[in-house]
Amino acid sequence: MRALSQAARVTEHHANPMPASSLHWFRDDLRLADNPALSAAVAHGPTLFLYILDEGGSRRPLGGASRWWLSRSLAALASALEAKGSELVLMRGDPAAILPRVVETSGVDLVTWSRRYDAPSMALDSRLKADLTAAGTRVESFNAALLNEPWQVATKTGDPMKVFTPYWRAARAVGEPAAPMPAPRRMASLPLPAALAAMAVSHAELALEPTRPDWAGGLRETWTPGEAGAAARLSEFLAGPLDGYGEGRDRPDRVATSRLSPHLRFGEIGPRQIWHATRSAIESGDASAGSSDVEKFLSEVGWREFSYHLLFYNPDLATENFNRRFDAFPWRRDEPALERWQRGLTGYPIVDAGLRELWTTGWMHNRVRMITASFLIKHLLIDWRQGEDWFWDTLVDADPANNAAGWQWVAGSGADASPYYRIFNPVTQGLKFDTAGRYVRRWVPEIAGLDDSLIHEPWKADAGALRRAGIALGETYPRPIVDLDLGRKRALDALAMTRSED
Ligand code: FAD
Repeated sequence: MRALSQAARVTEHHANPMPASSLHWFRDDLRLADNPALSAAVAHGPTLFLYILDEGGSRRPLGGASRWWLSRSLAALASALEAKGSELVLMRGDPAAILPRVVETSGVDLVTWSRRYDAPSMALDSRLKADLTAAGTRVESFNAALLNEPWQVATKTGDPMKVFTPYWRAARAVGEPAAPMPAPRRMASLPLPAALAAMAVSHAELALEPTRPDWAGGLRETWTPGEAGAAARLSEFLAGPLDGYGEGRDRPDRVATSRLSPHLRFGEIGPRQIWHATRSAIESGDASAGSSDVEKFLSEVGWREFSYHLLFYNPDLATENFNRRFDAFPWRRDEPALERWQRGLTGYPIVDAGLRELWTTGWMHNRVRMITASFLIKHLLIDWRQGEDWFWDTLVDADPANNAAGWQWVAGSGADASPYYRIFNPVTQGLKFDTAGRYVRRWVPEIAGLDDSLIHEPWKADAGALRRAGIALGETYPRPIVDLDLGRKRALDALAMTRSED
């Protein structure tokens, strides 16, 4: 039936050609600049700009913090389109059902989108591409998210890469990333056909933001989602923290990194733009960073590329150990300990500071992500997947590739991972990277009155020091949830058990 009616439609087009028109399906590419799929749609003819809140399919549902970000990002995108005389149409439901219907009814002859790399999204996109093409509509997909497609970087024998340094060397050898495209100057909107009006929903109807309780106050104070917010972040970073990034990036007590991760996650900015803006800021003298800072920063963007390479070839990266030897690992189930970790009540100040920063702002410094993750996995012996899940729900930059790769890296089960026996000591990490305790004092104010020498180990304070700082240990701030030496030994014993089962 479907094939017949489509054949009739194609024939009718030939007899009575319709003016060219297109549909751009926005997903994780919520921007106008350097968006080749959007540019192709706009160049083709009047365009229907569509976003579908994907609900109920096999894709992993967004966490709460990501839903908040998405809400603000869609609002920013709608305003940017409006400023160009265009409109963003919003729908919710299963794209596999919605998109073909919109395409058929609106009569567009080109559909464009930017590629995604997680398995359920790729499966959905392939199916849609096949169905739409069979029905006579051209579909074109483009790369907006990565410097290189995952399959463009390979070992000499053509295999996927498993180690970052050779990966990055090979990625650089692919060539200089293409120059970013400007936003289309003029964009003609194709209105939604009246027959589909009932399928469109308002921004409020998407109900992406929390109401009761409204826990997003800290997120609102911290971030400006959207393409303009992303561009502003990048400029500030290039003009300031890039200089000294190599050393400063490990300091949670300073604003020394770009904080572009959520903007990248939602495609409000792309890595080609970051790459070229960084290079030209240096060349024009607008940024004064040395080449080692620049190379370090670009290689961090490279870690993101590497994570996507891993995800593409290991679709279960968020749920299965990359190194299957870890399948035998004797994880503990300990809900009370997990909950104390989530709430930042472990009694280890830098761990608690990180988890509270995460809860309040939806972001956590990279060094502290490593410390908190190591603490959960090794000192508490809790499965990395439980931590990954918590980050997925609470991070505004929760990313299918980076989050899974980051957790597996810390667990030691990942590709090119930190060895399992490397166990971060939260006290020595705190003393090294938050020497004056500024980060801890900001997020764990109940112990702020302690001297710098005790701020990372309040249990060592004597009664007088605790009294002067207004602390009743075990009441106003917890005693340590686990002894560091015992926790470390337990973790190493567990690893040995895994090994003996080889
Ligand atoms: P910058 O230092 O300014 O780096 C620039 C960009 O490079 C980042 O925005 C990010 O896209 C990329 N990048 C930096 N470090 C890494 C890294 N180690 N791995 C991959 N890409 C990197 N990053 C996410 O974007 N989403 C996540 O869900 C996520 N979960 C993580 C979980 C754990 C347990 C760990 C250890 C790391 C995780 N990371 C994640 C990586 C890293 O912590 C963040 O990308 C970084 O902190 C973001 O801050 P920034 O934008 O200021 O980074």
